Parts: sequence; C-alpha cells; structure tokens
Amino acid sequence: MQFVELRSDTLTRPTEEMRQIIARAEVGDDVYGEDPSINQLEKLAAEIMGKEAALFVPSGTMANQIAAMVHTSPGDEIITEVTSHIFLYEAGGLARLAGVQTHVLKGERGMFSPDELEGAIRGENIHFPRTTLVAFENTHNRAGGRVFSPEELAPHLEICKRAGIATHLDGARIFNAAVALELTPDIIAQDFDSLSFCLSKGLGAPVGSLLCGSAEFIREARRTRKILGGGMRQAGILASAGLFALDGAEERLARDHQLARVLGGAIEKMENFRLEFPVESNIIVSRYLGDKPIQEIVALLKEKGLLVNPFGPASIRLVTHQDVTQDEVFRAAEIMGSI
Ligand SMILES: *Cc1c(COP(=O)(O)O)cnc(C)c1O
Repeated sequence: MQFVELRSDTLTRPTEEMRQIIARAEVGDDVYGEDPSINQLEKLAAEIMGKEAALFVPSGTMANQIAAMVHTSPGDEIITEVTSHIFLYEAGGLARLAGVQTHVLKGERGMFSPDELEGAIRGENIHFPRTTLVAFENTHNRAGGRVFSPEELAPHLEICKRAGIATHLDGARIFNAAVALELTPDIIAQDFDSLSFCLSKGLGAPVGSLLCGSAEFIREARRTRKILGGGMRQAGILASAGLFALDGAEERLARDHQLARVLGGAIEKMENFRLEFPVESNIIVSRYLGDKPIQEIVALLKEKGLLVNPFGPASIRLVTHQDVTQDEVFRAAEIMGSI
C-alpha cells in the first residue's frame, strides 16, 4: 500500500538532485579542520544565525547535549519546560553527560511565565545547586509546533541575562519558526548564547545539525564533540546535503505550513477528532474524542493508509514535510474523517 507518511518530518528522503550533490561533494578530514564542505556549512550557519561560529554535529540531540556540557559544570541545575525535547526525549543525557539536575517548569502551551522562571532560579546559598543554564525550544514540538516570537521570549531572556545565566535555544525547527513569523532566523536567535538546529527535519537532509554561538563557545564545543565521539572525517559528504537543504528552505517550509493549515482546517470539522493546539507551523496535534485506545486508532489509520504517531494518551501527531503532496493531505483528512 502507498502510505501517506505524516509521522514526522524526519522521514524525508534525499531527492535525486541532493544525491547528485552528495556524490560530487568536496571533502577532507574534518577532525583536522580540512573538509571544505564542512567549513563552508559551518560558516554559512553562523552567518544565517548571526553568531560568531558554528559546529556540525551528527544530530540535534548531540548539539543540545554539547551545549549543556559547555554551559554548565556537573552538579549545576538547568531549567527547562517540562515537555521540552531536551528533558523528555534525550535519554536522560543531561544527567548522564552534563551531570546536571534538571528543574522543570510546567508551561502553558510549552512556555512558563517570566515570574515562574524568576522564582525557579536558585539564589546564593551553600545548600543550593547553581542555576547555570535555561533551555528553550522554538518551534515547540510537544506544544504542537508552537512558534514563539522574539517579543514573547524577551522577558525570559532579560531575567537570565540579569542573573548571569546562559541561555540555549533548541531550534531544531527554527526555520519553521522564522517562516511562520516572517522573520530571518538571526532575529529569533539573537538574544540566546547558543542555539542548535536540525538539517534532517523539514530541511530534508539525511543527517546533521549545527550548534551555533560565540567563537569561544564553539571552540569548547568542538572539544566536547570529540569526547562524545562526534568528530567525523570526510563529513563533507553530509555537509554538501546540508548546504543544498538550506538553499530555498523558506519556500519549501512555507508550503509545508500551508498543507498543515489545510489539514488542520479539515480536522476542525471532524466529529471524532479535534485540534489540541492551533496550527502554527508544520506540526498538528489532534485529540481523538472516541472511546478506543489511541494505539488502536493509530493501527486503524495505518490499515487505511495513513501513518501518524501516537502523542500522549488520546492524541496523534501529524507532520507535513516536503515528501507529502496536497493530494495526500486531502487523503489523510478523508481517512481521519472516516473513523
Ligand atoms: C528532533 C528534535 C531534536 C533532536 O534531533 P535528533 O537529530 O533527532 O537528535 C531536538 N529538539 C527538537 C525540538 C526536535 O524536534
């Protein structure tokens, strides 16, 4: 059966054109700093994000974990929202790799208030861990691809700055945020000390993420990447796909968002499903209103040709991406409407 694949934007496959680019990539040994494609990609990423430097890493998880390791010392505390990727989906890396404890704040649609943040920061006291990092996420996956504007986050970042606490942005989908806000990514990134973004989600590359920040931060991050075994050799093979993926990304993501709005509009009219969050980017979280267990609904949708991920006890997540056509989105709506 030909499935409509809406489980994730990580399922995009390299296009024929991208494969041609990969085949011709100029390469060298990146651990020696001699891979021209990697160097070009890191330079471009830093420019796009308005930071001094950038580092290519295999995954978004490694980018976030390196950021935590560089910004903190073991025994410190990091603050993040309770449904953030860095807390929920990185296999306990903060505790295991950075050796920090995580202070999670319950957010409203993915974000806690400035007052809650202020109250969570530890004061000077021999009994307390030191708060040394606050990690944010934009767009916010668990909050249904929610987009935060720079204005919304400004009070939070101001508090961190005043307290001398580093800030990291998990910008796995920062280009989706940029497209939704009609801003360039550097505007979204500008008040964060570091940020990560993924090439392998909506941008459509097979592998890779970038970590961006000050030159000093990236020097230390490069060393930390080596500790984690993330120093790669002729990685220009991967960087060439990333460079290709960045070219014209905004137009492709705008199309993904438009398709998500179409599907969201259809879900609003259904009897058995409703939208859990407004559709702001390429992620849709939809609550099933019937009485069957959600695993059964996911299996039923699959039988009818639609692949989605379960998302909590009664919801599914649907993600649009470059390998989904408008017709497939209509078919997805039809299938959901039929159960
Ligand atoms: C996918 C994702 C990551 C991690 O990326 P991987 O490349 O899968 O390790 C981090 N944060 C968010 C919000 C993500 O969606």
